[in-house]
Parts: sequence; C-alpha cells; structure tokens
Amino acid sequence: MGRRKTKRKAPPRRKVLHELDKQFNCPFCNNLQCCDVVMDKLRNTGRITCRECNESYKTKIISLSEPVDVYNDWIDACEMANTANNVMP
Ligand SMILES: [Zn+2]
Repeated sequence: MGRRKTKRKAPPRRKVLHELDKQFNCPFCNNLQCCDVVMDKLRNTGRITCRECNESYKTKIISLSEPVDVYNDWIDACEMANTANNVMP
C-alpha cells in the first residue's frame, strides 16, 4: 500500500465579481436604466447622473458601498425633498 495522497487542492477561491447593476431608473424623467453611478472611493463620494435629464446627485460612500446605495440615497433625498415641498396641509 503506497502512500495515498488524498490531499485535494481546494479550488482557489475566485472572487466572482458580478458586474453589479450600475444603471438605475431615473426618478426625475422616469427613463429606465439611464442613471450611471460613479464610485469615487478616493474621495468617498458616489455620484449618480442621469443621461437623459442630466439630473445628478452626490453622496458620501464608504468602502463597502455599492452603486445601489448611492441610488437609494438619491431616492431618499428625492422623497425628502418632495415631502418638504408638500408642506400644504
Ligand atoms: Zn433623468
């Protein structure tokens, strides 16, 4: 009986970087997939810009932030602005 090498090399853990969805629907012009997010990790800012109406929004990000977080911030900010404008009782 020879030495049995049962040591199996574990497959290298590959980082599967899904191309995360970086295009979102615009809350201003309502076009679909027209907003691009740029993550500036050096300055910790995320910027989302609409290709159609040029509306844009900048927010703070952390290293774990995803483009969708920037988008969500934007939507939140829009909603806040909406409620602020709708102060009529
Ligand atoms: Zn737009």
